[in-house]
Amino acid sequence: MIGSSVVVRTRSWTVLLLGVFFGLLTVASPAALAADCPGHPDALGTSRTLVVDPREHPRIGTMQYRETLPLKDHEVVLTFDDGPLPKYSNQVLQILASECIKATFFIIGQQAKANPEGVRKLVAAGHTVGTHSMTHPLTMNRMPIDKAETEINGGIEWTSAAMTDPSKLAPFFRIPGLMRADGVEDYLISRGIQVWSADFPADDWRHVSPDRVYQLAIQRLEAKGKGILLLHDIQPRTVAALPKIIRDLKARGYRIVHVVPATADQPATPTTPVEWLLHPPTETTPIARWPAVPNFVFTQTASLPAPALADLNVRTAHQPVVLPRRTMAQADVAATLPAPGRDLFAIPEGSIEVLLSTTLSRRAATRLAMAAEAPRGGKGKAGKIKAGKIQAAHTAARAAPKHAAQVRTTAPRPTRLATSVKKRA
Ligand SMILES: [Zn+2]
Repeated sequence: MIGSSVVVRTRSWTVLLLGVFFGLLTVASPAALAADCPGHPDALGTSRTLVVDPREHPRIGTMQYRETLPLKDHEVVLTFDDGPLPKYSNQVLQILASECIKATFFIIGQQAKANPEGVRKLVAAGHTVGTHSMTHPLTMNRMPIDKAETEINGGIEWTSAAMTDPSKLAPFFRIPGLMRADGVEDYLISRGIQVWSADFPADDWRHVSPDRVYQLAIQRLEAKGKGILLLHDIQPRTVAALPKIIRDLKARGYRIVHVVPATADQPATPTTPVEWLLHPPTETTPIARWPAVPNFVFTQTASLPAPALADLNVRTAHQPVVLPRRTMAQADVAATLPAPGRDLFAIPEGSIEVLLSTTLSRRAATRLAMAAEAPRGGKGKAGKIKAGKIQAAHTAARAAPKHAAQVRTTAPRPTRLATSVKKRA
């Protein structure tokens, strides 16, 4: 008895110790995050670094392109354009630092020229820095290519000049206003620069409230489930909305991904081609396997000659169309028919409900039919509906010629009536 109680006690201790051990393991995750972001135990943090090779996937962002970053569900990449502008960019940097988030910044050459320290701060904080032209023209879609090249190169030149180590500049470029053009993209790609669109903006450059920016960021992210968010670090409304966006991302289980370019020391993260599609095709999506429409190539562009009249096999001379002649029997048939008698137009008493059913609702018609079927003066439900129209109808029916009463016996029954009503519905 004593021995078995000792065994039981030992087992319960083992269970308790295992429970404490696994409990510690569970608690260990937030503790590890706190270690990742010192002083900010509740930080969202950066879950992983994605290394990409611009030459393998030169255009990304589903707002404009087929491919986007190979993110997993609930993964987000934060991007900030148009800086650095110390007043707001520094606040954005602070917010990101307090959450241990790494983002990607697209710098305007003029801003880098005016505030090189701002570029160095971004690099020192470990963010990825790409470029966004020299003067942010919103005409790159219709600009002469040499002018577009000057814009691209000016931005790269001044941003890298601001850096202590110019090799830190990522070969990432975002076209101002996303005003893409084939020539611009071709030039960037020829230089091994990745063209970044986005998966969704938050409209933070428009005159909307910070709360609206927050709502749009979350709504659009939720709609796609993952992706690249386009923001601007030069807008006060973005500074105001950012903490709330980040808190909500954490609450909804989103994770931040930091994107860096592949280098000789750091090869690209292994991925499969379908991972670069926002929603890879699945076996359950038949449309994904539908064959593409082929591109027809016309071997001859010369137009065919118009057909000659002779080709159409028509008679040149107009001939009158011969109509069949009416026979004498056809001509006299109307005269030989007897005139209809007056009784032909009398409404038989029993068929009054059929006539009413064509103008009343199905329910009313059924009630009337039941009333008509019920014995006169009956006390049932149907008997009560004798007021109004039905009474008038019966009065009219009684005024009909006598032989109509005989038709009463062959009047349509409610079941037949219901069928005829149903056909009309
Ligand atoms: Zn911009």
